[in-house]
Amino acid sequence: MTVADCLFCRIVAGEIPATVVAETERTLAFRDIAPKAPTHVLVIPKEHYADVASLASDNPALAGEVLGTVADVATAEGVVGEGFRVIFNTGASVGQTVFHAHAHVLGGVDMDGDLT
Ligand code: 5GP
Ligand code: ZN
Repeated sequence: MTVADCLFCRIVAGEIPATVVAETERTLAFRDIAPKAPTHVLVIPKEHYADVASLASDNPALAGEVLGTVADVATAEGVVGEGFRVIFNTGASVGQTVFHAHAHVLGGVDMDGDLT
């Protein structure tokens, strides 16, 4: 896949609309198009990495910035006290469908079972 074909790179480029909730120089957070919880935000590095494993090994500082934006989003969404879940699906076999590293930030509902 080239970057031009990548859905999330196209969102970063402004070619596909998204509901942005937070942005830094190197990260972007926007609402999932098919939310599975009242809070369901995706946090991505603006630079393309196929998954969190390649992001963390190739650019750990940027992986840390993604987590910083995750924390900012959780605070802004008001889910810090009640708890929230952060998921990085990594690989098609576990459900990754968009191969641009992204954190799912899920909250606002009881999650005692699976919720990905
Ligand atoms: P994955 O399954 O790869 O971990 O998660 C990809 C997520 O991207 C899914 O939860 C899906 O709903 C979301 N998604 C797919 N296409 C779009 C889109 O065009 N815009 C937004 N905001 N989210 C999308
Ligand atoms: Zn991409």
